[in-house]
Amino acid sequence: MSVQGKVAVVTGAASGIGRGIAEVFVNAGAKVVLADLNTAQAEATARELGPNALGVAMDVTQEAQVDAGIDRAAQHFGKIDILVSNAGIQIVAPLVDFAYKDWQRLMAIHLDGAFLTTRAALRHMYKQGTGGAVIYMGSVHSKEASPLKAPYVTAKHGLMGLAKVVAKEGAAHRVRANVVCPGFVRTPLVDKQIPEQAKTFGISEEDVVKNIMLKGTVDGEFSTVDDVAQAVLFFAAFETNALTGQSLNVSHGWSMT
Ligand code: NAD
Repeated sequence: MSVQGKVAVVTGAASGIGRGIAEVFVNAGAKVVLADLNTAQAEATARELGPNALGVAMDVTQEAQVDAGIDRAAQHFGKIDILVSNAGIQIVAPLVDFAYKDWQRLMAIHLDGAFLTTRAALRHMYKQGTGGAVIYMGSVHSKEASPLKAPYVTAKHGLMGLAKVVAKEGAAHRVRANVVCPGFVRTPLVDKQIPEQAKTFGISEEDVVKNIMLKGTVDGEFSTVDDVAQAVLFFAAFETNALTGQSLNVSHGWSMT
């Protein structure tokens, strides 16, 4: 089981976990399309990764951009075998203070983005008739809740539902759908939250890391970008419907469900 010669689209691939997934996939012999809002960074990363990588401009909330970006990916590398729906943001605030526009923005990126990229990728996969894999970047927050993260927890739980529907509809086409659920990983998304939470809770940044972020882990350690990328690679390479509609925690035991 391998991704050798397969074509993968990774959203949010200009930074953090998405970038790590792109690197791991290229090293495993896949061709990777790095789709991101930050076009310059996606293209620069693709250049670093070599001819088996392509940077593509894509705001995952914009239907026309998603359809055009996925079509361009298929045209450039000839097909689409794997979609990693990874683009995401975090906005942290108590529910009573949450601005509606922030709720809508977060939901749009995580859920509209997952829907639009899935629909565009499935159209190619079904037409090709050679199966495929869709992997959603969930979170421990697909299964657990934390204060201050209402839309994020809601959206990440929602991705579990979407994956199950894609698993059922995709089965006849040998398209599998699964969710990878990381705990905290040191990326720009998490680095931004540390001072924000310190301010909200009136504690030190060290306490945010130790007593909030890593409190539930078995060993007080962050998961790494590579840990998450290897789990995504596993789902992408696994070739039968034996593993579909599933989720895998990569969280140092923070969630065991
Ligand atoms: P990051 O901020 O490092 O990277 C996110 C990328 O998504 C950026 O390149 C950004 O430009 C891109 N992006 C944002 N909005 C976009 C849009 N509308 N269209 C296209 N691209 C867009 O974040 P990260 O930590 O690498 O997070 C990646 C995913 O992993 C997210 O879905 C996040 O929720 C999830 N996740 C992260 C952690 C963590 O601890 N870092 C834990 C669990 C889940």
